[in-house]
Parts: sequence; C-alpha cells; structure tokens
Amino acid sequence: MNQQCIFCRIVAREVQTKLVFEDEEVIAFRDISPVAPTHILIVPRVHIASVNDLDQSDAGMVGRMVLRAKEIAKEEGIASSGYRLVFNNGPDSGQVVKHLHMHLLGGRPLGGKLG
Ligand code: 5GP
Ligand code: ZN
Repeated sequence: MNQQCIFCRIVAREVQTKLVFEDEEVIAFRDISPVAPTHILIVPRVHIASVNDLDQSDAGMVGRMVLRAKEIAKEEGIASSGYRLVFNNGPDSGQVVKHLHMHLLGGRPLGGKLG
C-alpha cells in the first residue's frame, strides 16, 4: 500500500466511498465527481500506477476488470443503452490518480468525441 495514494487508502477503507462491488482482487466505487449518471471506478486492490506498469502476469486481472464492468453495467441498467470504459494513462490523458483504474461511464448519450 502507498500511503500517499488516495485509491490505496480507499482500498484500505481509510477513506469512505459509495462501494459498488468488491472481491479479493478489485473494488468498484462511485466517482466523487461524476460526469455521467453512472460513473464508477473499477480499481485493483494492488497499487499499480498505470497501464504502462502492467505486465503479462496482470492480463487475467485486467480481463476480469472488464468483465466486472460488464456485470456492473447490467446492474446499473445501462447494458443495452450503452456505456464507455476508459483507462487514462499519463499526462496527455489527464490521468490524475496514479493508481490504475477503469472508468465506467453511462446513463446518458456520451457523445462521439474521445479526444
Ligand atoms: P483520472 O483522471 O485519474 O483517470 O480519474 C480519477 C478519478 O478519480 C476522477 O474522476 C476523480 O473524480 C476520482 N476521484 C479522485 N479522488 C476520489 C475520491 O477520494 N473518491 C472517489 N470516489 N473518487 C475520487
Ligand atoms: Zn495506490
């Protein structure tokens, strides 16, 4: 755990969130500043700074993050209306929190522009 990392502190339950899901590998919670009606972050418990820091041994975990997003989207009622999964990575993406996370966004038309 990285004491300076807000998501490590959320994983450790030192910071409260609106929890959506947790298992031994990942947690999912509502973004504190949602930009869509559904805005959930899916976060590995282990501190990995970004996609750049993933390696082959993380492949299963990343796959399960996507599959978890699919299940959460179903529970949120947005599976058929549609949603977007986003990993920000590095300065040009606007990544603020340096602990790997996937945004699950939906509940309104998100627009076609990605950048
Ligand atoms: P990034 O730009 O790094 O991809 O996104 C980080 C996200 O984390 C932002 O959307 C921001 O609102 C969210 N966030 C930052 N701090 C907290 C927090 O303490 N609690 C929750 N629930 N979300 C946070
Ligand atoms: Zn962390």
